[in-house]
Amino acid sequence: MVRALYPGSFDPVTNGHLDVLQRASHLFDEVLVAVANNESKQALFTAEKRVELLRQSTASMPNVRVTSFEGLLVNFARSQGARAIIRGLRAVSDFEYEFQMALMNRSLEPSLETLFLMPSEEYTYLSSRMVKEVCRLGGEIGRFVPDCVREALLSRFPGQHPASELSQKQP
Ligand code: ADP
Repeated sequence: MVRALYPGSFDPVTNGHLDVLQRASHLFDEVLVAVANNESKQALFTAEKRVELLRQSTASMPNVRVTSFEGLLVNFARSQGARAIIRGLRAVSDFEYEFQMALMNRSLEPSLETLFLMPSEEYTYLSSRMVKEVCRLGGEIGRFVPDCVREALLSRFPGQHPASELSQKQP
């Protein structure tokens, strides 16, 4: 039983995260998505809401579980018996931060490997931050996130969207 951990903020989960998760779920017996409950990072959604949106979005992936964690990632990975950390790499801009974090985690826990997976090209420009910004300014985000996330975002930024859109499903 080889378990991998996919940690992140997931504020909120996007189709890019789900692409990476799908790929990881084919490589491991179980993938545990771990929502970082990090008070120093200002999040739009609570950790509970981010977990709920991830659970709804991954309901069709049988070997994926979702939870949240606080504190040091390597400690949490150890407590879960995880052998690998999954991270997504979109562009060179992700590389420096990810490289530093992977090497720091390796020095803290040498038996834990970090694996980087690339999403499909259509998601390489997608980030939670960008989706929130587009939605806040009134843009349509249905192509970038699952339905449940679209609805959660529209209810956070109702002022910019016509009332008819709020209950409308993704086109
Ligand atoms: P963090 O705050 O830990 O970076 P994120 O939720 O932003 O949390 O991202 C979690 C992981 O998912 C990171 O490794 C990030 O590079 C990756 N990721 C985010 N968006 C995408 C995407 N569109 N395609 C592939 N990987 C992504």
